[in-house]
Amino acid sequence: MIKRIVVVGSGLMGRGIAYVGAVGGFNVTVVDIHETALENARQEIERMFKKGVSIGKISSDQATQALNNLSYIPELSEVACNADLIIEAVPEELDIKKRVFETMEEHASAHCYFATNTSTMSPTEIASFAKRPERTIAMHFFNPVHKMPLVEIVRGLETSDETAEVIKEVAVKMGKETVVINEFPGFVTSRISALVGNEAFFMLQEGLGTPEEIDKAIKLGLNYPMGPFELVDLVGLDTRLNNLNYLHSKLGEKYRPAPLLEQYVKAGRLGRKTGKGVYDYTIEEEWVKK
Ligand code: NAD
Repeated sequence: MIKRIVVVGSGLMGRGIAYVGAVGGFNVTVVDIHETALENARQEIERMFKKGVSIGKISSDQATQALNNLSYIPELSEVACNADLIIEAVPEELDIKKRVFETMEEHASAHCYFATNTSTMSPTEIASFAKRPERTIAMHFFNPVHKMPLVEIVRGLETSDETAEVIKEVAVKMGKETVVINEFPGFVTSRISALVGNEAFFMLQEGLGTPEEIDKAIKLGLNYPMGPFELVDLVGLDTRLNNLNYLHSKLGEKYRPAPLLEQYVKAGRLGRKTGKGVYDYTIEEEWVKK
């Protein structure tokens, strides 16, 4: 029985996972090494609850109860021992994930399950950083977590049937649909999304059209709910670049990141989270190119 969940990393994804976890009735502790990220996450989660109540998605009693089930702390080593499940949502960099999984292994109890929210990486490799591969799995949420219905559950080589079942139950309690698949770099969703998103940067670089025109063509011509630039601004250009670098190393040339994407990241244009990505969010509500 999973009751206590620790979410490691309180960025875009971690805060969303914490929110759906608390709404799902779990006791959730959010961990982040950066105090400001933790404080931003607390404020953002409270804002999400307020909005949820105001639009009638949850009752104010539910929101109060869920908020009481949430806590925030900078030190994973202090809370890992109480967790039934730890969900890692730190940046898509193997070294960072390795250090976090080593800390999890050192401090978590033997019954605890480990999940990674990686978009592309191997849950088998991530499991190797701890010593419980049968209890480790990828739990791939989508952004924004509270709105996106799917959790892609990805089994590593040694993930047990029981772990897959337990994690599926947790996702369902969080109000999500699931697919359970076997590992391969990029899974189903990131493999397609990274390719489409990268191609859009090549088009922009080639002068095929403005971001608005490319987004409009994809939305209205191919019936995508969002254009590739709207999506990458939401996902984070740095996260997308990390995904592409990883997929390039594993799956070859077709995933080589577009130079323009690399340039935007170097310039600090990381998307909505920094106020500017492909579009500029600092200018009123209008999305203005460059
Ligand atoms: P983010 O950069 O918004 O947040 C990462 C957070 O982790 C930051 O707040 C950072 O301070 C914290 N952190 C870094 N090192 C840490 C450590 N050692 N211990 C605790 N906290 C630490 O990143 P994100 O977009 O939330 O992505 C997190 C993971 O989720 C990545 O693996 C990414 O690939 C995956 N993911 C992202 C998206 C997306 O749309 N952004 C979608 C699905 C999956």
